[in-house]
Amino acid sequence: MNSQLTAFITLGCTSGVLNLYLCLYVFLQRFNYTKIAHLFISYTALISIYCFASAFGLIAATLGAIKFWTAIQYAGMATSTPLGLLFIMRYLGFQLTRKKVIALLSIPFISLIMVATNDMHHFHYRVFEIDPVLGSPYIHQEIGVWYIIHGIFTFGCMFVAFLLIVKQWKETSKAYRKQLIALMCGQLIPMVTAFIYLLGLTPQGVDPVPMVLWASSLLYLWSISSSRLFSVMPITKDVIFHNINDGVIVLDESSRLIEFNQSCNQMFPQLSRSMFGMDFAQVWLQVTGQFMPFNLEAIENTQEIELNHINRTYQVRISALQHVNHGNGLLLIFTDFTEVKKLQHMLEQQAYYDELTQIYNRRAFFKHLETYEEASGFTVVLMDIDHFKHVNDTYGHATGDQLLVHVVKACQSELKNGQFFARYGGEEFVLTLKGYTLAEGEKLANQLCRSIETSPLMTIVGTIRATISCGVAEGKIGEESLYQLLNKADKALYAAKEAGRNRVHVYRE
Ligand code: GH3
Ligand code: MG
Ligand code: MG
Repeated sequence: MNSQLTAFITLGCTSGVLNLYLCLYVFLQRFNYTKIAHLFISYTALISIYCFASAFGLIAATLGAIKFWTAIQYAGMATSTPLGLLFIMRYLGFQLTRKKVIALLSIPFISLIMVATNDMHHFHYRVFEIDPVLGSPYIHQEIGVWYIIHGIFTFGCMFVAFLLIVKQWKETSKAYRKQLIALMCGQLIPMVTAFIYLLGLTPQGVDPVPMVLWASSLLYLWSISSSRLFSVMPITKDVIFHNINDGVIVLDESSRLIEFNQSCNQMFPQLSRSMFGMDFAQVWLQVTGQFMPFNLEAIENTQEIELNHINRTYQVRISALQHVNHGNGLLLIFTDFTEVKKLQHMLEQQAYYDELTQIYNRRAFFKHLETYEEASGFTVVLMDIDHFKHVNDTYGHATGDQLLVHVVKACQSELKNGQFFARYGGEEFVLTLKGYTLAEGEKLANQLCRSIETSPLMTIVGTIRATISCGVAEGKIGEESLYQLLNKADKALYAAKEAGRNRVHVYRE
């Protein structure tokens, strides 16, 4: 065996041993590492198979033995490159779907079969024989179609992995750059060596890549010990951007769409990258079918929008961004407020409705009057159940409750939309009639009195006949305080009670 061959075998075995050490080291430490270490364990295991098989191939004496070790070599090498790419992608935060991973690993699988069965079809090597000049273990080979496909694939995997790391360089903080250097060189060393080999610049008939892989493994070891590769890893800003729950949209200084994150896809399914460069108002129209309901000028101001077609409410925050394509841009952040809104609505319901009778309460009544414009005229009817205390005393509080609900129902059957009916307190109710004259209010109040008088409540303890008394007053928003108006209605109600109950009195100056 000549000294050159001995050197090749020694280098190949060194690479194999170092990669095996790396593999076992990470395997034993795997519980201290992030999940990505699992990919690395398989990666280094396959590389050691590659290196050892290559060394054994150089010891082999017969063509049969060389072919056997070449097949083993392929089992390690062909699968390790796409696995290396997957490892780098995971490291940088790219997640491939299961289908894509299977597609990626299918090529090396075919390569392995091609090499193992080459004698039958010669697709991988057209010629594979012991070099007639140099003798065993040197090989004279002429490459076949599949060799080229496999070569491009292998080279492509390493090149893409390398490019991905380079692309991330600027984005990654200094603390993690040692890791990037190790990963970058780890790909670059075999890639350059393979390239030189393909150009025919290395000793003939021997694959030089296993002889340099020890250098890659030393770099990985350095990175694991010096910058805690696998323990702490950078999260790329892209990953953060796409994982924010809020929808983020970036516009340039002319309000054109230039970027959005993944959450936007869920919020606005029609939004697509093909809209980059389009005026945002137009994008909005296409995406939601509505005109843009918020003002892009209102920076640092929170605006709320409701998208009716998908029944959701978003809060939009707009802020100025500098250095967007060397100019000023806008950042639009959409927060889904739908659940908060629903809760708010539910609380409002509880705050503005009377639990027993399920009509508006006193608070809702005052709130409702706030919606009236200045100088709009209305009539208010204050109602009170006659001798209600007597019902409570005779039949019990529960029956009293029943009567309250009954009276409300009797009133509701006489009322129309827009006549605001609320429980004012105890057994008193208030009716607000916007645009009604005093006479119209009086008429409606009489109608209610008659309705209640003629519809007694049937209970298991007997039939209860109830009556009500009403006080009617008229007012205009702004002319006098609400308190004064209610006071007038109360006076009228008192007069109705005094006059014998079950009647309507109108307040007149
Ligand atoms: P008047 O004809 O003068 O209005 O006599 P009244 O008995 O109806 O009036 P009074 O103000 O003396 O009594 C009202 C009673 O209503 C007193 C209170 O216990 C009762 N009440 C208030 N709220 C409720 C309620 O939610 N359920 C029941 N069952 N009773 C209530
Ligand atoms: Mg009362
Ligand atoms: Mg009463």
